Amino acid sequence: MSNKWDDDEVLERFREYLRIPSVHPDIDYGDCVKFLKKQAEQLDLPVAVYELVPGKPVVVITWKGLEPDQPAILLNSHMDVVPVYEEHWTHPPFAAHVSEDGFIYARGTQDMKGIGMMNLEAVRNLKNAGVRLKRTVHISFVPDEEIGGQEGMRVFSESEEFKKLNIGFGTDESIPNPGPNVLITFHGERTSRQIKITARSNPGHGALLGEDTAGEKLYYIIDKFMKLRAEEKRKLDERNLWFGDVTTINLTQLEGGVQVNVLPESLSASFDIRIATDVDHDEFEEMILRWCKEAGQDVILEYLVKNPQVNNTKIDDSNLFWVAIKKAANEMGLTLNPVICPGATDARYVRQQGIPSINMSPIMNTPVLLHSHDERIHVDEFKAGIKRTEKFLEAIANV
Ligand code: ZN
Repeated sequence: MSNKWDDDEVLERFREYLRIPSVHPDIDYGDCVKFLKKQAEQLDLPVAVYELVPGKPVVVITWKGLEPDQPAILLNSHMDVVPVYEEHWTHPPFAAHVSEDGFIYARGTQDMKGIGMMNLEAVRNLKNAGVRLKRTVHISFVPDEEIGGQEGMRVFSESEEFKKLNIGFGTDESIPNPGPNVLITFHGERTSRQIKITARSNPGHGALLGEDTAGEKLYYIIDKFMKLRAEEKRKLDERNLWFGDVTTINLTQLEGGVQVNVLPESLSASFDIRIATDVDHDEFEEMILRWCKEAGQDVILEYLVKNPQVNNTKIDDSNLFWVAIKKAANEMGLTLNPVICPGATDARYVRQQGIPSINMSPIMNTPVLLHSHDERIHVDEFKAGIKRTEKFLEAIANV
């Protein structure tokens, strides 16, 4: 079935990208690379493909600035998307169908092929209009963000190849605003820590009241974490904060024991923790170690994931890129709502290299459907997003 959107070149490019099923697990990025090389060719811009990990290509399209010695701008997006429950979708998730009311339905429309294409289309429009920007702009497309980016942006950001790009400022993804006039930005992220605490003790008969049992010790630990969790939840509710502002703690796995009438040799509890940016991370770790000691003998802390603390990007007048973004937003009649990202994005790797980075989504008036069924964006909002990206890019690349 065809409709009035079928002859729209801009949409056609976006829909072609959306139709590539670069969906986890075991993604073959070959078609994404092919598609992006074709875009670079049409734009008459050089493209580099860095394959630092086999099968995990990073594509970088470069638009040279008038002052190429100035630190460059990085517009980053990821090529991968999360899995779908196809039976819950109104239209197939990799068909990029445009409904009669103008919504493009596809996995990746919001997270984040949409933003990647807005970056490309913005450069295309500026370039076609004869605009030249002061700073060089690198538009990067990375793999594996949705599975932690270890073999994607992490490896790339630590490489010599990345250093040679001489990045001075980066952008990455945030989330759409469901309402009008405001765009949501992130300038930092909480630190993800996943821990497992194991309490050991001597086995014994379940009919006795033995001393120093694994159950009592683990109970002590769980109780401490649940009290801290309740405290953070109270802060969130009472002070009307945003998830990114507090530490979140969830007990996600329990293991141990062999039989119900045997005292276990070991019991363990695993927690998913996201530490707020204003928390002293060393003190937080010491607190957990103290709890382990207080719980009794043989209570061991183990890290499953221990991400380093990464400094927030400054959002004051000392960050000229932020000042430029704010000014551009203002000129478009928009306000920015800068918050801390409750989850994690590839921007943390860029920040870790000491490069200021702002996550921004130029999308408004759109329900937040990242990772959800029926992920979609309206054609008008996609096109408005391109226009907004042009303005932001002009602003930051001319700093
Ligand atoms: Zn994403």
